[in-house]
Amino acid sequence: MVKNILVIDIGGSKILTALASVEISKTKVMDSLRGIQKQTLAPACGIDGVRKTITELVQQTLNAARCDLANCHAIGVTIPGVADAKTGRWVYAPFSGIRDYPIGDELRHRYGLPVFAENDVNACAWAEKIFGVCQGVNDFLWITISNGIGGGLVLNGRIHPGAFAGAAEMGHIVVVEGGQLCGCTHRGCLEAEAAGPAIAKRFTRMLEANRQLRESCSLPEVTAQTIAEAARNGNPAAIETFRTTGHLLGRAAAFAANIVNPEKIIFGGGVSQAFELFADEMKKTFTEQAFQSVNSKVTLERTGLGYEAGLYGAASLAVDA
Ligand SMILES: [Zn+2]
Repeated sequence: MVKNILVIDIGGSKILTALASVEISKTKVMDSLRGIQKQTLAPACGIDGVRKTITELVQQTLNAARCDLANCHAIGVTIPGVADAKTGRWVYAPFSGIRDYPIGDELRHRYGLPVFAENDVNACAWAEKIFGVCQGVNDFLWITISNGIGGGLVLNGRIHPGAFAGAAEMGHIVVVEGGQLCGCTHRGCLEAEAAGPAIAKRFTRMLEANRQLRESCSLPEVTAQTIAEAARNGNPAAIETFRTTGHLLGRAAAFAANIVNPEKIIFGGGVSQAFELFADEMKKTFTEQAFQSVNSKVTLERTGLGYEAGLYGAASLAVDA
């Protein structure tokens, strides 16, 4: 039986919607993801901006997918920042100042469908279990590397939110003593050293310190993406930047493995599109620093869901229920 799920992926700077058709059998299979719509969010748009954008995008998705609400079975929504999955409440998002927004109730009343909500990173982790490379895996860690770094933990086959909804905050493991300043006020956090903006800053620092490197390289715009392209074209500073990034990710992954002892650690988010540029160094450091007696079989892998992991995440919440 195929069920249609309206999926809404709320990010820090954009919202995506789509219609996910999922074959519900013993193994759940994503039949199709149709009518994908995307709109950027103004930084201070507030609850009204989010509400308006969702309303417009949902209508556009239904039109594009040629589906009406009567043929939808549920809504799955991913929430950035702190979310209360049980009540569907958006508790807090540092980037927008949104607090205590009952988005689950609101969508339920507006569309008359059951709504399933979860923090975006936890939802991505869950999607990997339902649709991706962790089907049949009960203990794993998901790490998102994009503008920030977040983590989602699945233990005993369930999302493990932690006592205060803050489990697997991978971005704030200190990997460089006295390193770069992090948004959380500490120094040397993984997010401040290895997220997209941190990669751009490291590359820039490297060029500033070395005239020869600076003269051999001119990027139109310095972002993790353009540095990845330069690395693929053999630029030594870009290659070195990703090598260092891999080393730091390997360190954090080793800390986490020593505590959780997962079967897999999965990497998603925009920067993970460059997985091949940091994977070797990351795996080398992981082997050197994780307690080998129990972690030698842990695999470090790229997501099986690609760029649409958030939409898969939203669908997986409803499928599970
Ligand atoms: Zn931090």
